[in-house]
Amino acid sequence: MMTGQQIKDEKHRIEEEKRRIEVEKRRIEEEKHRIEVEKLKIEHKKCSIEREKRKIEDEKRRIEDEKCRIEDEKRRLASVETLDDGMRAAMKELIKTAKIYYNSCSSAVKDAAKKFFEDIDHDKDGKVSLHEFLEFMEQEGHKKMSSRNFFETLVRKGSGTLNFTEVLAIFYIIQSGRPFCRRCNVFIAGMYFTCSECHESDSYDVIFLCPDCFENGSHTHRHGRRQFLDNYALLALKRKQRIDRAARHSKQVIEQ
Ligand SMILES: [Zn+2]
Ligand SMILES: [Zn+2]
Repeated sequence: MMTGQQIKDEKHRIEEEKRRIEVEKRRIEEEKHRIEVEKLKIEHKKCSIEREKRKIEDEKRRIEDEKCRIEDEKRRLASVETLDDGMRAAMKELIKTAKIYYNSCSSAVKDAAKKFFEDIDHDKDGKVSLHEFLEFMEQEGHKKMSSRNFFETLVRKGSGTLNFTEVLAIFYIIQSGRPFCRRCNVFIAGMYFTCSECHESDSYDVIFLCPDCFENGSHTHRHGRRQFLDNYALLALKRKQRIDRAARHSKQVIEQ
């Protein structure tokens, strides 16, 4: 039999044990919590590593794109460089032609050409800057000529401004109605292709194509491709037609 004291002691021991267990439970809870926090931290870390990886992937793609873009730009510049060389050579010829016309034209036309230069040369310093050129072309409605590119093909390398002779070329282009390509809108300084059928019908809407645009065939026109001639061939055809007409006419006269 247990004495009263023994029972009290036992109860006390059990109480102690319960408290110890409680403490232990709390410690375990805390440990669990700590582990949860740690797990969350690890998850978070994993996420940020994933994000970082994605970022690096994106950056790699961006660099690849940039490389492609630079390659494209290089190719574009190379083609512009060669195109500009051809264009500049043709422009030189054109400037020469304009000068020949100017030297042999009437004094009225000479005055008109001088007035044209003075109108463009807004600040009257005897040379035409890009700004003056663009402003005048816009104002006068010569939209196709109103571009930096066109200015660059006229200007002497390293000069930056147009002199009287170069402006004379612009005057000549406007007066003679020299064509721009219907497809790429570029001024055609050299040879071009045009529809002989449209010329024959004296249509106002005559199509002109630069050799590149005619070659790649990307244009559409109401007359067939076979109707297209280059400017030299067209001139020869016109001459032949005139001769044939004259021959027919004299034959009729003889037969009458
Ligand atoms: Zn073209
Ligand atoms: Zn036509």
